[in-house]
Amino acid sequence: MRCLLCVLIIVPFFGLAQHRCATDVLTQRQSEHNLDYAEGLDEMKQLATRFESGTKTIGSRDSKKIIIPVVVHVIYREESDNISMDQIHSQIDLLNRDFNWLQSDKNKIPETWRDLGSASGFEFRLAEKDPDGNFTNGVTRKQTDIENIANVDNVGSDIKYYKAANGGTNPWYQAHYLNIWVCEIGNRVLGYTYLPSANNVEPNDGIVIEARAFGTNGTAIAPYDGGRTLVHEMGHYFGLRHLWGGEEGTCTNTDYMSDTPWQREANFKCSSFPAISCPAERDGDMFMNFMDYADDTCSLFFTKNQIEYMQLVVRTVKVTLIHSDGVTGITESQDGQISVFPNPSDGVFTIYANSTNNGVFRIINAQGQIISNGRFYQGVASLDLMGNPKGIYYLRSEQVAKPLVLHY
Ligand SMILES: [Zn+2]
Repeated sequence: MRCLLCVLIIVPFFGLAQHRCATDVLTQRQSEHNLDYAEGLDEMKQLATRFESGTKTIGSRDSKKIIIPVVVHVIYREESDNISMDQIHSQIDLLNRDFNWLQSDKNKIPETWRDLGSASGFEFRLAEKDPDGNFTNGVTRKQTDIENIANVDNVGSDIKYYKAANGGTNPWYQAHYLNIWVCEIGNRVLGYTYLPSANNVEPNDGIVIEARAFGTNGTAIAPYDGGRTLVHEMGHYFGLRHLWGGEEGTCTNTDYMSDTPWQREANFKCSSFPAISCPAERDGDMFMNFMDYADDTCSLFFTKNQIEYMQLVVRTVKVTLIHSDGVTGITESQDGQISVFPNPSDGVFTIYANSTNNGVFRIINAQGQIISNGRFYQGVASLDLMGNPKGIYYLRSEQVAKPLVLHY
């Protein structure tokens, strides 16, 4: 009788996971309420369009290591949901395996697409240093009595998983750490994040994962105990869209990746090849791609274009993560100083000032004309000079002028 009860409780939650990921709906909602975010999202669409049409900004695929410092915020009600370090490590290991073409189940990818798999060079590491410079194991823990604290319907309410004063845990400085909250979500949602914007980093920047779909042991429950919910959300965090684009029901909504087929809608569970939803696609849907909704055992890989695009995003709007001292050791700019990366660049520059700097700057060309204005957010700004003639430009802020070199 006891076991029967378990089945009755678990099956409705995990057996009908129609809302596996809430990234689309929340990204849409955030862009309706936040003009800055929406404008930055549009800029990212332009970047993705250029990427899709083959005008890539940053060389070709790059296997150099991209080390991302990660902090996991565990928020739990029952002590049994205060997940173990072992469970957290199982998730980080899985992430590194899947992002580097080391998955043991890649033989399940249909042969026609297997060559599209590749290593990304991303390496996720639990932070070793916290924002105050103290040693850390990269995990924070907090007990709460709020049920489903990260419920999608809580957006706009007083309950906020990302605010300590509202029941949650404050993020670590998001320019330097990738924040992951592991907690209850409810409504059969397993995870979500927000698509990256070229503008400000929002207070909720980061990824949320339901504790029952995190890692490969402990509280993880089949069929979502393969750690692939986070792999999927990580794809979104670095700019990837669902294979059906933003909207289901058409075969014309792009995911901006020219090596994934057109797809009408999500595939659940484990489909059989070929699963054709758009008649023009002879091989059908790439349902085993991480950016579909298959069960963990059938969710298997990213394509080369998806990997290149994530590399592009991490080297542009998320570049501060790879210059973080959370695991690797770089020092911030001193007061009044500004540093630029990369410089020279073939289009997109990231500019660092003191982390308290929220001021404005101008970009001036060699003829002294203002060609662009920008603003720092907590000392970081992204600047796109693509389309301008190559040469030297000057960044002017309150105290300093800094030359930028644009080359192609
Ligand atoms: Zn998703």
